[in-house]
Amino acid sequence: MKQKTRKIIIFISFLLFPITMNFLSPYVSIDGAMNGIISGSLILFAFMFIFGIFFGRAWCAWVCPMAALSEYSVGINNKKVNVKLLKIIRYSIFILWAGFIIAMFVFAGGVKGVNPLHLTDNFISVDSPVKYIIYYFVLLLFAVLTWSIGKRGACHAVCWMAPFLTGGYHLGRILKIPQLRIKTDNEKCANCKTCDKICQMSINVSQGVKDGYINTSDCILCGQCIEACGKGALSYGIKSIKNIELNKKTLDI
Ligand code: SF4
Ligand code: SF4
Ligand code: SF4
Repeated sequence: MKQKTRKIIIFISFLLFPITMNFLSPYVSIDGAMNGIISGSLILFAFMFIFGIFFGRAWCAWVCPMAALSEYSVGINNKKVNVKLLKIIRYSIFILWAGFIIAMFVFAGGVKGVNPLHLTDNFISVDSPVKYIIYYFVLLLFAVLTWSIGKRGACHAVCWMAPFLTGGYHLGRILKIPQLRIKTDNEKCANCKTCDKICQMSINVSQGVKDGYINTSDCILCGQCIEACGKGALSYGIKSIKNIELNKKTLDI
């Protein structure tokens, strides 16, 4: 039931992408910075950082317009991906992009104003032929990368938004704030590894069960592993890091 609801939500989000595209756009942030304007997309990215403190990467499974495209692509390429390698690419792109935005603000003489509707005067992002070209280019980019790399390939490789969510997630951990998590119960686990196969983020979920919890910012809290586990070894829960007893020290990647 939860998965059906989630899939309906992300499908609606995908349909709304022609309206919301500019609020997620890396270019609109740059254009705003060149004019000393904090644009709607920068405001949303700041919100995503705060969201990540409490809900980690849940945005990626429950809100993002690209979630539906990524998930339906699993039917085309279901391969596990090299998360560590793709993460290096993603963070390299992010550092260049974020550095460019900061430089543009400096060249513009600092922040001169805030305009949530910067480059989105009609509130609808795709409102001219050239915007249609950008819209289809973004969809094609995400689709082709995901189809060629594997599960959520574009999310792992190029997403400029994920670092805001993971940044918030890590800050929440450092501050020991209660966060939404996937709770595990090793006693109930039959080690069937169904959860490993179903995880769209290529996480070794069964190892996480052994370790005490899913200890990675890659978990988007989709809940597919919970639904797939016939033993009830996985569930949603809200916990801070100090209340989690690790059976084994693991590295959060
Ligand atoms: S990684 Fe980026 S594109 Fe993928 S679902 Fe998350 S926010 Fe959306
Ligand atoms: S699906 Fe459930 S029982 Fe099977 S390995 Fe995963 S947590 Fe354990
Ligand atoms: S570990 Fe479970 S909740 Fe997290 S991304 Fe994988 S399937 Fe989704």
